[in-house]
Amino acid sequence: WMLKEPTGDNIDVTKAFNLITKQVSARDLKEGEVLAKTVYISHDPAQRCWIHRNNVEGRLYRTPIGAGEPMEAFGVAEVLETRNKSYKTGDLIVATVHWTEYGIITPDNIYFKSFGDAADMVTLGLTGMTAYFGLLNVGAATPKDSTIVVSAAASSTGAIVCQIAKNVLGIKNVIGIAGSDAKCAMLTRDAGCDIALNYKSPTFRQEFEAATPNDIDLYFDNVGGEVTDMALLRMKDRGRVVVCGAISIYDRIHEKGGNVGISRASWLQVICHQVKIEGFIIFQFADQFPRALGDLATWTQEGKLKLMKDIIQTDITEVPKGMSTLFKGENNGKLITQLKV
Ligand code: NDP
Repeated sequence: WMLKEPTGDNIDVTKAFNLITKQVSARDLKEGEVLAKTVYISHDPAQRCWIHRNNVEGRLYRTPIGAGEPMEAFGVAEVLETRNKSYKTGDLIVATVHWTEYGIITPDNIYFKSFGDAADMVTLGLTGMTAYFGLLNVGAATPKDSTIVVSAAASSTGAIVCQIAKNVLGIKNVIGIAGSDAKCAMLTRDAGCDIALNYKSPTFRQEFEAATPNDIDLYFDNVGGEVTDMALLRMKDRGRVVVCGAISIYDRIHEKGGNVGISRASWLQVICHQVKIEGFIIFQFADQFPRALGDLATWTQEGKLKLMKDIIQTDITEVPKGMSTLFKGENNGKLITQLKV
């Protein structure tokens, strides 16, 4: 799947790509590269930013996808031919792949060899790491924190944040926010939340205030917008905000008159309560991935983490639909395409 051209706001992303046929061959391999068959493709909200035409020139954290270039994704692929000494034929590798059935993967795009369930690797590999480093390194969460609020808590990242907060750190009040009553029920049943609130409920604001009487030590933000605005009004002195994502604005980056939805009143709270706000990109922690993976795998084996996956089994023709599914909130857990080739 090739991007037709970088897109604007509010478009049907499924129409942004062309499916073309191009052959790859092991003869094209350079030193360090592998020829691989795509097995799992991860669907991640950030991909919407990679194809947006209004990225501020040179200020995205990675090179945007250009017109006529193949769409990229995090995923798992099976090595078919190799000129990389670390990976042999038949290995499953966790890597940046393309929305293609087969492809050549350069060494800088191979992260590690898959172990255990390869679909779990997609969940642990990107969103698990994001939850881990966002919560523990950027947010510096500890058992001393008494209240943590997580937005898009039923997302794959959010659900892992909630479980680490409750099941690993033992934080007293873990409050998750999600977009349906069913997702809220899942959060309290399976993801360690003490309270889960539906941000689409007409009484959400009152419920949010009632749930945070002693204010918030740590707000783990996946959405931006109004939910973040509310959270900023409830931060403790020297509370911390981890800016992990802003999915509520990815599809309307340059909407006329648009802003992230933060009111002046709540922005002033950042000063009054000396709130620390810090963003991050998971790849800044790449050198520490093996340690994090080890911890996450151990917690999973110990039953402290349940990995929630939503796997679509399809052939290459349906792959772009995954991206629109995410933005409609229709996924339950990590959305992954298992490619039938
Ligand atoms: P998922 O794809 O698993 O889930 C995304 C969820 O976001 C949807 O199911 C939906 O749930 C919610 N959502 C969609 N649209 C909106 C909206 N307009 N307002 C509020 N919520 C919305 O998410 P991930 O776990 O992959 O990603 C979660 C966040 O983490 C994203 O913001 C992503 O960009 C960020 N991220 C950041 C990384 C980093 O390095 N900083 C790395 C990876 C992810 P609901 O039904 O509850 O609305």
